Amino acid sequence: MAKSADIYYKIHPWKIIEEGFRKEYAMVSESVFSLGNEYMGTRGNFEEGYSGDSLTGNYFNGIYEAADLEKSSYKGMIDKTEFIVNSANWLYTRIQADNEIVDLYTCKFKDYVRILDLKKGILTRSYIWVLENGKEIKLEFERFLSMKDAEIAAQKITLTPLNFSGDIILYSGIDFGLIHHMTGKNMWNIAGSTADNDSISMLGDTISTDQSVLVSCRFQVDCREWSDIEEEKKLVRRFVLSGEQGKSIEFIKIIRNLTRKDIKEEEKENFKTKWGKNQEVLHSLSYQKLREDTINWWKRTWQDSDIVIEGDGLNQQGIRFCIFQMHQTYHGADKGTIIGAKGLTGEAYSGNTFWDTEAYCLPFYIFNNTEAARHLLEFRYLTLEEAMERAKTLDCKGAFYPIATITGRECCSLWQHASLQLQASTAVAYGFWHYENITEDEEFIFENGLSILIEVSRMLASRGDWNKDRTRYGFYGVMGPDEFQMMVNNNCYTNYLGKKTIEYTLSVLKRYSNKNPDGYEKIIKKHCLLAEEIEEFHNIAKHMYIPYQEETGIFEQHEGYFNLPHVDIDKIPIEEFPLYHHWTYDRIYRNDMLKQPDVLMMMLLYNSDFTKEQLKSNYEYYEPRCIHESSLSPSVHSILASQLQKEEEAYKFFGFATRMDLDNYNRNTGEGLHTTSIAAAWMNIVYGFGGMRSDGKLLSFAPSLPKEWEGYAFKIHFKGDILRFKVDKENIKISSKAGLGIQLLVYGKPYILGQDEINIPVIL
Ligand code: BGC
Repeated sequence: MAKSADIYYKIHPWKIIEEGFRKEYAMVSESVFSLGNEYMGTRGNFEEGYSGDSLTGNYFNGIYEAADLEKSSYKGMIDKTEFIVNSANWLYTRIQADNEIVDLYTCKFKDYVRILDLKKGILTRSYIWVLENGKEIKLEFERFLSMKDAEIAAQKITLTPLNFSGDIILYSGIDFGLIHHMTGKNMWNIAGSTADNDSISMLGDTISTDQSVLVSCRFQVDCREWSDIEEEKKLVRRFVLSGEQGKSIEFIKIIRNLTRKDIKEEEKENFKTKWGKNQEVLHSLSYQKLREDTINWWKRTWQDSDIVIEGDGLNQQGIRFCIFQMHQTYHGADKGTIIGAKGLTGEAYSGNTFWDTEAYCLPFYIFNNTEAARHLLEFRYLTLEEAMERAKTLDCKGAFYPIATITGRECCSLWQHASLQLQASTAVAYGFWHYENITEDEEFIFENGLSILIEVSRMLASRGDWNKDRTRYGFYGVMGPDEFQMMVNNNCYTNYLGKKTIEYTLSVLKRYSNKNPDGYEKIIKKHCLLAEEIEEFHNIAKHMYIPYQEETGIFEQHEGYFNLPHVDIDKIPIEEFPLYHHWTYDRIYRNDMLKQPDVLMMMLLYNSDFTKEQLKSNYEYYEPRCIHESSLSPSVHSILASQLQKEEEAYKFFGFATRMDLDNYNRNTGEGLHTTSIAAAWMNIVYGFGGMRSDGKLLSFAPSLPKEWEGYAFKIHFKGDILRFKVDKENIKISSKAGLGIQLLVYGKPYILGQDEINIPVIL
């Protein structure tokens, strides 16, 4: 893999520390120091302004804009796309002294340090600003997003004139004038603003999607005078602070951001009156209390979801950063929110959610926060109608889930992906199946999953076809997860997942008809599901073609794959990566090179369906053909390499996972974090080294210990209990918080986990 670590931050088990500021790292750091709380996210921008490379980014989950695309005369291609919109900068600040305005790109400064405290969820930064005339002001910044009340954020700035007494001017406000970087446009109309003695508010409406954001800020500062400046799309309060040498001035800003999606015209006025309410709420809040509440939220969260790695400081820091980002991005506060491929840290991938959610992120939530897992799946239930619309557009029946989406509508303008990849639909079904397998929450599946399963199976039954002599069913003209093979027939992953989806649908239908005949009748009627259709589902599942070579035990990625020209990927010069930028689009598709796991992904998701020998043959065949151009790829290989006792390989692939963004492996962290790969990093430890498998009847483990580590520990939330695993060079210790008597398998042997700790020798 043409990837190398660029270690920039100081190693610390609980903190990300930037000591001294390097301009060329400004955008990467903006992403790395992002804060989020599922409802909103803010990049680690310098609030006081920065004229160098920067992406000032503030995002709200589900607040988007739309753009018309060139209309194609081919049916099935989208003509409108939706993307997350860069919203108001509610941290807007400028600091002025003696006609100079601080700007770390141009001014002199010293003793710079920035720290993201992962344990507490607090971001701090400080430096001494040295003015042209030699005056020095120490500036300290602190900010956090409330984890208790997602609409609230807070900022504190401490200013200390070190060698003079005199005025310092501080500007603080709300700026709706931000540019959405990918389109180069501002996306806001200002609907109104208001101000009183200690607060200001501004209401912005998105240009075309009928959504609104109301930002209110309350200021606390001891100032000599203040005045308001209203410019286009920006409302700023100017404070004159009387600086005294050696004495600190504290400035506090508490922010409340309200969003309203799909607002109706007549409700706009009503929403505007909310700023009165906003100010009332802001007056009842104290910075200290908000801070404490947030720290406590993180304390509780860490208690039950920390991973400890002994003897490897780099990965210890890396995995905690990953866990922090997962909770920041999503923790199930809302049913309608999503996990974008970049979380809430940038505009790349348009803030869209992908199959990544069910295939890579869901396991983290299933085993850390079941309610969040349920809410993630509910998003798909809430958007079933859109998936059904999409199916119609694609000449299919049922529901075709979008490859990339914010609202449930397809946003991917590349037809090769949007029309040919069925993996979002099968991943949704897989997500429900996985959730039920672990939680046994059958009711949820009956209420939310079954409608989806019926409609997705229906889509599969209309999108696929029988071969010429009608002996085998399969999918023609598709693209599997490996995006380097386009328009192929019988992609093994797609066929297998299709078969599994239909089988699961049939199993849920059967169980529901036994347990709740009335409910069953209702759902059958609602979906007009005929007995012949159910019969057809059985037939399709039974005859689904899975391309497999008996003599070698290798599944063929798709029909004809084995005959494709071979590319020796080790001979591709490093400068040609990423290939998308250096090879013509069609050249990528003309050989046996893979972008990411396809057959191997199938073997991970349904691991217990395959023998170890099959896994070995397929791993050894496909891994050398894979260039891991998707950041999701290395972790899957690491997990499977662990299972095959290929320790060195497992550790090599793992290296990319936990520190993908901290070390800017793909050289594009500046655009935003690889949030869904971060989820894969968690899987890499728990499923990889911990050897957990969650697709069988019992949860099973086969821990191994990388030789580079002294030990590691992780926790799993399971059936109302929390299971704690501690692995060192000699033993695996498993204990339970509640002692509920959970049954599990370790190295294939059954155990019951009661109050007593289980101690098992580790197999190295
Ligand atoms: C990968 C997809 C993934 C998407 C978003 C692409 O590069 O090939 O599998 O869904 O990124 O993470």
